[in-house]
Amino acid sequence: MTSSSPSLLVRPPAFQYRSVKGHFDLFCGESSLTNLAARHGTPLYVYSASMFRERLRTFDDAFRDAPHTVCYSVKANSTLGILRLAARSGAGFDVVSGGELERVRKASALAVRRTVFSGVGKTAPEIANALKAGIMLFNVESESELGVLASTSQRLKKTAPVALRVNPDVSTETHPYISTGLFEHKFGIPVSQARELYAKAARSKHLRVAGISVHIGSQITDVAPFRAAMERVADLVRELRVDGHAIQYVDAGGGFGIPYRPSHSHDFAADIAKYAQAVLEPLFGLNVHVLLEPGRSVVAPTGVLLTRVLYRKTNGAKRFLIVDAGMNDLLRPSLYRAYHEIVPVTTEPAAVRESTDVVGPVCETGDFFARDRELPVVDEGGLLAILDAGAYGMSLASNYNTRPRAAEVLVEGKRARLIRKRESFRDLVRSER
Ligand code: PLP
Repeated sequence: MTSSSPSLLVRPPAFQYRSVKGHFDLFCGESSLTNLAARHGTPLYVYSASMFRERLRTFDDAFRDAPHTVCYSVKANSTLGILRLAARSGAGFDVVSGGELERVRKASALAVRRTVFSGVGKTAPEIANALKAGIMLFNVESESELGVLASTSQRLKKTAPVALRVNPDVSTETHPYISTGLFEHKFGIPVSQARELYAKAARSKHLRVAGISVHIGSQITDVAPFRAAMERVADLVRELRVDGHAIQYVDAGGGFGIPYRPSHSHDFAADIAKYAQAVLEPLFGLNVHVLLEPGRSVVAPTGVLLTRVLYRKTNGAKRFLIVDAGMNDLLRPSLYRAYHEIVPVTTEPAAVRESTDVVGPVCETGDFFARDRELPVVDEGGLLAILDAGAYGMSLASNYNTRPRAAEVLVEGKRARLIRKRESFRDLVRSER
């Protein structure tokens, strides 16, 4: 164990320590996380509304020189309270299932008109519902899907606005499970086949060719692959226009990453400005409406997962903190070996530090949040905050080990609103016979 004075957290900015009677207490805006945990229990997701809005605005500012719509990617965090926040900020949505579309409709009837539908396996009923709802764009991923879209819109006497999701064959430095832009992946249509399929779409009275879409993966922090993908898309826009198609939209997808590791020099606005340059420069002069589908970069740093230390334990030289959140609440460390910064909710100016694993109660060796992590010592009953948990946290949560899913709180100025109640055992067995 070593001793050192605590450094005040400089990120994420919505979560800051305040000095309270000789110790430091972590706050979200005006709300003490200690108090929120006492009121709502743990595990508990806590989000900052102001930070969410500010990050959406940062995207809007960076793309202000081009006609654009930010279609927040629902899969990153699909809780209705978060979707309402996005809709009230004027965002559109990117959905990948009928269920996500229903969530958008529940959050805001108007936002449906600013919604794009992506995904490799849309079913005919999902397509029919999206047509009836009047969404902005279908991002079609195969010739067969194009056929189902045409026949469904014919049956409903509609005309479906279509973009083909092209696969630009661009490689990205990210986890292989979240890289999508290579031919070996299941996503999209190879650029070489796109013209033929656009011609086929244009022959249907019930399809309206409206755009091109692309999404190359997630947690990509280098802007070069985005630029490479957009250069291929721009070439295709020119070719398709020569072929007589009215290409109105270019959907650049999502995928911009965040620094999960502590970084005191991080400037989100500067990063998004660079990303905007990489996306917009290749499209210069094409006069297209740009669609963006950010998920993680908007919502990840706006949320933390609060968890309480149940037990301290040593196995030989190894130290463990066993906490009350598990891989069912936040899967990313188990699934991708993803790093999340973990901080004590209450700490002291000269806290003693130790190297420890932080693990959950689920019966899997893979149920961990950190391994051999240097942390200030936290006693049994103490609280930890797992940072940057706003994206792919709650939306990937499950009931594994018959664990009820966590509650969620949205902090708005001085108010902290419960946006999802903790599940009960009754909730878990409701649909079972
Ligand atoms: N759009 C599509 C089609 C996706 O598959 C994804 C996620 O992988 C996103 C947008 C959102 O990506 P991210 O959360 O990395 O911005």
